[in-house]
Amino acid sequence: MKGIAVPPGPTFDNSYARLPDRFFARVAPAPFAAPALIKLNTGLADALQLDADWLADAKGLAFLSGQTIAPGSEPLAMAYAGHQFGNFVPQLGDGRAVMLGEVLDREGRRFDMQLKGGGRTPFSRGGDGRAALGPVLREYIVSEFMAAIGVPTTRALAAVATGEPIYRETMLPGALLVRVASSHIRVGTFQFFAARQDTDGVRTLADHVIARHYPKAREAEQPYRALLEAVIGAQAQLVARWLLVGFIHGVMNTDNMAVSGETIDYGPCAFMDTYDPATVYSSIDRMGRYAYANQPNIALWNLTRLAETLLPLIDTEEDKAIAIAQDALGTFEPQFTQAHRSGVIAKLGLTAVREGDAELAQEIFAELARNQVDFTLFFRRLSAAIESGAADEPVRSLFVDPTAADALLARWRERLAQEPEDIQIRRARMDRTNPAFIPRNHRIEAVIAAATENEDFAPFEELLGVLSRPFDDQPEHANYAQPPLEHERVLATFCGT
Ligand code: AMP
Ligand code: MG
Repeated sequence: MKGIAVPPGPTFDNSYARLPDRFFARVAPAPFAAPALIKLNTGLADALQLDADWLADAKGLAFLSGQTIAPGSEPLAMAYAGHQFGNFVPQLGDGRAVMLGEVLDREGRRFDMQLKGGGRTPFSRGGDGRAALGPVLREYIVSEFMAAIGVPTTRALAAVATGEPIYRETMLPGALLVRVASSHIRVGTFQFFAARQDTDGVRTLADHVIARHYPKAREAEQPYRALLEAVIGAQAQLVARWLLVGFIHGVMNTDNMAVSGETIDYGPCAFMDTYDPATVYSSIDRMGRYAYANQPNIALWNLTRLAETLLPLIDTEEDKAIAIAQDALGTFEPQFTQAHRSGVIAKLGLTAVREGDAELAQEIFAELARNQVDFTLFFRRLSAAIESGAADEPVRSLFVDPTAADALLARWRERLAQEPEDIQIRRARMDRTNPAFIPRNHRIEAVIAAATENEDFAPFEELLGVLSRPFDDQPEHANYAQPPLEHERVLATFCGT
């Protein structure tokens, strides 16, 4: 570690580095041949009280690429375990991520800052600790889009080219992502200690998570039960939000689920174009374990693994602990359903759930699937149709059989007539709920190809710009709202590790 002071860089305050030694390994970020800044998220820098001008300069770049260590930074790799596609791996850990430390934002909230692709660590196993440019750009785009639409997520502070080639199936340009998260603690972090029968470790971690994310749980009669309930609630909300925007995480392994309730570890993730609940993009998800509509089931499966780790803390009598945990897990489904249902209602321009709404929604989704309708465009065009039947045609034309849309639109209008509010207000609200733009796979692939093959980052910048205002009609960028043409369709995504 070089330990060179670089004021006026960030001031770190590391609570994780104060935890027992077995929670992490101290590491130094790798030296890189010729780091170059690809993109700095100035808005996020500002929120984190970081000087964007300094970050964009040579000293800032040295910091963002791990070449100099800021005062107070204690680089470390976190230990964790996890179920990968259902199979337990007792030791995973940050194999290609270096945590620099924690910073506070303007509101005093604590965030981890991590270099993803920052070099080898004791947890790298056979891996090189590095990241390719493509996945770095993908994560930057998708995580910042999630932030723009208000879905809890880790953020991208910067993308940096390392100036070094990395070796996958082919040679690719290397890069790293400076990732910011309210923490990087995963379900798998709890599993790491539980698998070692290290109940003290589980307790220490649970206390840390309560203090950091769920301080109210500390005042509860049963703090660890309250912690479990809080994580269950956060995940129920999160996965509902994913479904409402057509997001498929792709690798919902327990090590890729953050206990904070933020979306984390964007790998082969994708947004679906055509509505189909069975949609899978990830090339490694051969059984469809992580298919679009299976995500709530998997979230509950993962939360059940979390609950298992907490049993010894919940009650000394195992039977009692299991009963309490089952009660808590039983709240997932109703919370998810409630969040999803009210989200669908809002997408349809309705304010409160009335009798028959669930059936209406069900019928709409069934027709969308049957008619291979673009999920995003359907809801966006619906808000234009709210004002007049003259705007029906753009909705109808999304259906393989446009007459199937007619019956739906008629039922929908009947229901709308019961709404108390002014049409303009409802339309405006729908337009704030249903994005016009999502990071469509074919657009992301085009951005990655231009950057990787031609060092052309203009498409990346343009896509980021469009997606930073996802709810605004941007007529000059109307083509970004379009689904892929037949030959542009992306059928598989790769994690690129
Ligand atoms: P992921 O599938 O990205 O969630 O990663 C699963 C595990 O593999 C984690 O422990 C990662 O740190 C590790 N890993 C992924 N890519 C690499 C890499 N290039 N080098 C070392 N470890 C890696
Ligand atoms: Mg991961």
